[in-house]
Amino acid sequence: MSDNIPHVLVLGGGFGGLSAANEIRKYLPSSQVKITVIDKKNWFMVGFAKLWIIKGTRTFENSTGSLSELTKKNIDYLNEEILSVDLENKKVATTTQSLSYDFLIIAMGAVLAPEKIPGLNENGLNLYDYRQAEQIHDKILELKSGKIAISIMGMPYKCPPAPFEASLIIDSMLREAGTRDSVQIHFYSPAPITLPAAGPEISKQILELISSEKIVFHDSCKIKSVEQNKLVFENSEADFDLLLAVPPHIAPDVIVKTGLAQENNFIPINRDCKTPYENVYAIGDVTTLKVTEKLAVPKAGVFAEGEGLTVAQNIISKIQSKEDNALFDGKGGCFIESGRDTASLIEVDMFSGPEPSTNLTESTAEHLQEKLEFEKDRISKWL
Ligand SMILES: Cc1cc2nc3c(=O)[nH]c(=O)nc-3n(C[C@H](O)[C@H](O)[C@H](O)COP(=O)(O)OP(=O)(O)OC[C@H]3O[C@@H](n4cnc5c(N)ncnc54)[C@H](O)[C@@H]3O)c2cc1C
Repeated sequence: MSDNIPHVLVLGGGFGGLSAANEIRKYLPSSQVKITVIDKKNWFMVGFAKLWIIKGTRTFENSTGSLSELTKKNIDYLNEEILSVDLENKKVATTTQSLSYDFLIIAMGAVLAPEKIPGLNENGLNLYDYRQAEQIHDKILELKSGKIAISIMGMPYKCPPAPFEASLIIDSMLREAGTRDSVQIHFYSPAPITLPAAGPEISKQILELISSEKIVFHDSCKIKSVEQNKLVFENSEADFDLLLAVPPHIAPDVIVKTGLAQENNFIPINRDCKTPYENVYAIGDVTTLKVTEKLAVPKAGVFAEGEGLTVAQNIISKIQSKEDNALFDGKGGCFIESGRDTASLIEVDMFSGPEPSTNLTESTAEHLQEKLEFEKDRISKWL
């Protein structure tokens, strides 16, 4: 403890890290707790804004908030890469510094790993990489005829409905460009249904939604490699003119090296988001929180945010010498834009019973407005 003030170190300034840091600061002033957020990026963007950059209604610049705004709330912000985490000695090394902590929140997200699929980097684009969003926009509009393939290349991946939403947005772009009749959209997933985490009923509704726009869904397609204009699955092949891939997701190497996550896996947590190390918590996409033997909480901003709030409550309780028994409630929702100026909302309650409960709302202009508000609210509340 520095000057008898506890130090909360937050690794990652994304959904989870920003939610936790702000919540702690909301209840405890800087005289009672020092908070530091470390991130190698100096901006925050909600994940779905990437789809608007692809659509062409947004740019990177007008979709981000600056992490340096954190300092206005007396939250220190260090814009450096985290190089190692020493859980035994409670030290985190960045490019230029070594920081000690009393409480550690690991919120470093998932890393996109296209290099795990042979041929992907050479022959396809990464649907989830903000740096490729403008290029994807241009390539979609350049294509006058042929086949666009959207391929999920690993499970779990962030925001399970997002690639379906992307297919609907791409459909709307092609309609507007007048090329939809000559460009096919094919969707390949390793899963047997569209959205396993949302259950068979919602999966059926999502299938109906994309099928109504002539987007063809191919289930159980487990990718092996990508060749020029060809997807090679374990049991079949498919050709394409433009490939938009959701690459495998992995935990950051820095975290694998701590032993908290096994290679090709994430940090296992329970609803209290604690790790085996005292006062060390993990939240968001870097974790796996099992709901049933087969099902985990999906990787999504809303859940990272909720876990951030849980950890914040537990840290506040500990600092105030109260019982730290807050549990993540598992409630959240994800919007799906239809590409026709409306959106629906998938509402989920992951821990409502033996199986999660889910609901898909009607697609309305109001839900699309709520989606815009969701983004505005997070950026103005956190930064
Ligand atoms: C296209 C798309 C659409 C999406 N739509 C939705 C949606 O509608 N609703 C929803 O809830 N979620 C959505 N998501 C998912 C959402 O963006 C993620 O689940 C969420 O960002 C996870 O939050 P997190 O805090 O765990 O990780 P992140 O937000 O990824 O934050 C992790 C942070 O850690 C930093 N970091 C990692 N390693 C290091 C290091 N070594 N040194 C320094 N910094 C490091 C990163 O720079 C990053 O800022 C979408 C995602 C995508 C890609």
